[in-house]
Amino acid sequence: MRYGGNTSCVSLEVGDEPPIVLDLGSGLRPLGHALEDRFGLDAPIELTAFLTHLHWDHIIGLPFCRPILRLGGTMEVFGPPQDGDLHEVIDRVVVPPFFPVQVKQLHGSIRFQEVADDTVAVGSAKVTVRRVPHVGTTLGFRIEANGSSVAYVSDHQAPDDRQSVSDAVLELCDGADLVIHDAQYTDDEFAEKATWGHSTIAYAVHVAAEAGARRLVLYHHDPLHSDDDMDRIVDEAVCFERAGRLDGVVGAAEGLAIDVGRR
Ligand SMILES: [Zn+2]
Ligand SMILES: [Zn+2]
Repeated sequence: MRYGGNTSCVSLEVGDEPPIVLDLGSGLRPLGHALEDRFGLDAPIELTAFLTHLHWDHIIGLPFCRPILRLGGTMEVFGPPQDGDLHEVIDRVVVPPFFPVQVKQLHGSIRFQEVADDTVAVGSAKVTVRRVPHVGTTLGFRIEANGSSVAYVSDHQAPDDRQSVSDAVLELCDGADLVIHDAQYTDDEFAEKATWGHSTIAYAVHVAAEAGARRLVLYHHDPLHSDDDMDRIVDEAVCFERAGRLDGVVGAAEGLAIDVGRR
């Protein structure tokens, strides 16, 4: 009720430029409504999206983003390389009987581009793309603009020792003003699900501290955690010794807006 139940989707705005969308989870639907409220129903909206990987919780919002379902709406999706083509793989799930129509039948235009270990310019922002440990090919992103930086590592398999950090993740998070990082499990839950592709809350804090980041957003909450569980998790994370190296730790919540401008 307070943290929200939608799945991964973050909107990142640089000045007056169209938002950069990170992941296409069910949060993309309310984001589409918010964009309509702001820009009006007739404004052609051009979105650029970066997709970490194709697990359901990261793509389920794709056919429900109203501004790109209309004529004139466009979305360019950069996503991980697939066996076959990214667009063709998406077509295998956005198709009857899973969904009434295919992407090409939507009125807006959605284009797909595979990307990995590269940088992409979007307006005045530079997006660095790296492969990160999860289950299957999965990307993490670092977005830099106007001297500020945000790292987005939504799904990240913590190593057994929960100490080492891959070079790719360290590079993405290096000195970032804000790190949005997988924090799905408590230590006890991780013991049961150590190979499920995710991090612990403590490991998320550890990664941000190791990388010298400023602030951390705990992200990708376990759907079994209640609002009260989340309050407790965030309160505990703030008190971790390594959190002392950060300027702040917060729990991601639907509608939460953070200004990443430099102090
Ligand atoms: Zn995943
Ligand atoms: Zn996920």
